[in-house]
Amino acid sequence: MLHQESRPEPVLQYAMRAVDFIEAKRDKKKHETRQITEFVASYCSGEIPDYQVSAWLMAVCINGLEDEETFALTQAMVDSGVTLDLSSVDGFKIDKHSTGGVGDKVTLAVVPLLAAAGIPVAKMSGRGLGYTGGTIDKVESIPGFRVSLSIPEILDTVSRVGACICSQTLDLAPADRMLYALRDVTGTVESIPLVASSIMSKKIAGGSDAILLDVKVGRGAFMKTLEQARELASLLVRIGNAHGKIVRASLTSMDMPLGRCVGNWLEVQEVAQLLQGRPCDYRLREEVIHFTTKGMEMAAKGSRPDVERLIDSGDGWNKFQAMIEAQGGRLDIFKNPPTSQITIDVLVDRSGYVTDIDALAIGRAAMCLGAGRERKDDVIDHLAGIEIMAPFGSRVDAGDPIARLHSSSAEQADEASPGIRSGFVISAQEAPVRPLILGEMSGQ
Ligand code: URA
Repeated sequence: MLHQESRPEPVLQYAMRAVDFIEAKRDKKKHETRQITEFVASYCSGEIPDYQVSAWLMAVCINGLEDEETFALTQAMVDSGVTLDLSSVDGFKIDKHSTGGVGDKVTLAVVPLLAAAGIPVAKMSGRGLGYTGGTIDKVESIPGFRVSLSIPEILDTVSRVGACICSQTLDLAPADRMLYALRDVTGTVESIPLVASSIMSKKIAGGSDAILLDVKVGRGAFMKTLEQARELASLLVRIGNAHGKIVRASLTSMDMPLGRCVGNWLEVQEVAQLLQGRPCDYRLREEVIHFTTKGMEMAAKGSRPDVERLIDSGDGWNKFQAMIEAQGGRLDIFKNPPTSQITIDVLVDRSGYVTDIDALAIGRAAMCLGAGRERKDDVIDHLAGIEIMAPFGSRVDAGDPIARLHSSSAEQADEASPGIRSGFVISAQEAPVRPLILGEMSGQ
């Protein structure tokens, strides 16, 4: 009788060694779906260490992933945690995501407007890192607003109010959280397949029927060129479609800050103003109307004039307040808004037209004032930020204020002022109109 040795089960089911997997990508070979599934699962269970995953991430950064590999990576990240089941919420559910920019508060307005149109939105969001603020940081500037909701609380809020903005629950795509933390410290964030799979894993796990994407392009955005942004948007749409989601993506300009305010509480007030139909920055209003219209068209619930009606009638504002109330936020602060301890006006030294406002310079100045975080555990000053007093295209005279800085420290405000001045271009000639929507992509 043959003696059969009892051998331990291979750690990886397909007997693939992590080092073979890394070498395959180093040598530009294509992974099989099951290999990617296994690699991600083994990383999550602690069987593959950070240093091997880091090496693989770098190989992906250099050699890329084919679509099939990217879809498999996305699915593996979705499968690493729970998926939000929105089937108990009636209607066609839409999710919205922006790749982020300076003064980008569009999501904050689009969510209640879609809800007011009868389109439920369960918006899960992350905190901002760097000069592009996160939606969660913005709503947290409303005293009492709870962003950490359990899944039953999310479902209850969306069913009752039609909208909810909350932080990603810890069990949603945990593999993405682990991989992102590793990418952050290994110089492997900037890879289009890694970015796209990371974004879409959370959107797919979010359980909506359709996804509305805003891919920002320019100095104040993650994607600096139109070509990169097109590539990212197209991949985001393809991933969504491969996972059975209806996806619309728009490329929008982020060379200049969006709207008049940069900074969490200032931005919330700007959204309140917009939703109340009060005068506001036309580029901001245009972009809010653009994305709400897209969402309404996807859900076959109306078109642009309907969106304008939702703003003018106050329905969007009522929905915004209902959402804040449902999540424990105080509404009285819109009547008696808190202000920062210090406000300082930055004055212009010559007369002319404002022909450019550098989003990156303004974003950096806002960071300097304490409105953003450099590291994940930095504490944000919710009242800090910048009000643009001389918007793009306006005429200024020497000595006029171009921006008002809100801060809790005079030193911080002094430090931020030169950056603001350098961000404004004042010219003798009027500025030509700049397009806001730079392209669109759709699928399914
Ligand atoms: N946002 C994400 O969610 N993931 C990335 O990789 C980059 C930006």
